[in-house]
Amino acid sequence: MSLISPWRSDFPALSALAAEGQTYLDSAATSQKPQPVLDALLGYYASGAANVHRAQHLPGERATRAFEGTRMRAAQWLNAANPAEILFTRGVTEAINLLAYGLEHLFQPGDEIAISALEHHANLLPWQQLVLRRQLKLVVLPLDDRGLIDLEQARQLIGPRTRLLAVSQLSNVLGRWQPLTELLPLARSQGAITVVDGAQGAVHGRHDVQAMGCDFYTFSSHKLYGPDGVGVLYGRNEALGRLKHWQFGGEMVHTTGYQTADFHGAPLGFEAGTPAIASVIGLGAALDYLGNLEAATIAGHEAALHAKLLAGLGARDGVRLLGAPELALASFSIDGVHSADLAHLLTEQGIAVRAGHHCAMPLMQTLGVQGAVRVSLGLYNNGDDLERFFAALDKALELLR
Ligand code: PMP
Repeated sequence: MSLISPWRSDFPALSALAAEGQTYLDSAATSQKPQPVLDALLGYYASGAANVHRAQHLPGERATRAFEGTRMRAAQWLNAANPAEILFTRGVTEAINLLAYGLEHLFQPGDEIAISALEHHANLLPWQQLVLRRQLKLVVLPLDDRGLIDLEQARQLIGPRTRLLAVSQLSNVLGRWQPLTELLPLARSQGAITVVDGAQGAVHGRHDVQAMGCDFYTFSSHKLYGPDGVGVLYGRNEALGRLKHWQFGGEMVHTTGYQTADFHGAPLGFEAGTPAIASVIGLGAALDYLGNLEAATIAGHEAALHAKLLAGLGARDGVRLLGAPELALASFSIDGVHSADLAHLLTEQGIAVRAGHHCAMPLMQTLGVQGAVRVSLGLYNNGDDLERFFAALDKALELLR
């Protein structure tokens, strides 16, 4: 199979990077953007920037309409019951911080928060710090050999003291869908709030938050082929009602005097200050672009690329995969080779991959590795991107071994 992406030419950055001799295989960190997203950004600025939700004038009204249009599209994208269940944040990191502050009042000393051993720092540190502030207990669900949250152990560890479960949908290091279908009902049956980090999961396939049955789901635009600086936090209506306000300022207040105030509910009550207007509009364009593509064709192309990636890594001596990735990426170390040295030699040959701890230091410790190189795929990658990677890998290994 030729493994040529039919969408590659929609992404001007791919040819710009190729002209510089760069092969981009780091889409799990951030993605390149299709032309309609670039057009939406330029279109907003070129036709007249204006603040949203404030101005009566034409540019203000136009910006507000486009901004709220993205909220509607994001609600449809996730199958939220209502656009008011969509909050814009700076990204997944800010969304989880919002939750850790907004839900803090619900926790009593001794209560438990459950996360898994594979969480990105964004879904670890906000909870760890909440645990420290309120004398709670952080329970870490262990993984099995494939890199899946171990359900047997989860059944032992999730209990009546569990007040919240926060887990990743798809690991940014191990590349496996996590067993949310089993985990979320388990937590719900104990009355726990459920939070899903969709930073990686949202990029692969469409997900229905109502069918998933979570209280909160979050993703970042920049990984989903949209602009950076914006993310989405979906909250089920009843769950949003339990959130306390966390950032205070313009547009989130209903009425205020000098001494007291009362605030809007979701979504505006959780979007204090001027939001990332252009980026929100650009995210709408990204969702429109993706919505017009055939999801099954994308999944097929990505699966074929992933199979090629795994076959190539498997054919090389000493390559040790982290877990058993099933899509999107593969992280690996090589016996006797320091991942930083390997990454350096790949970088010198124009291969853009990620090396290090991937913002999951405790996971690296659990797996007993110092660091790993991660190759990650986007819908725009071609088979020959991987061929260039493997040629560079072989050259690097010749030098290092
Ligand atoms: N969770 C996961 C699984 C991620 O991969 C990332 C980004 N690497 C994040 C959270 C944080 O996303 P952001 O930096 O966009 O807030």
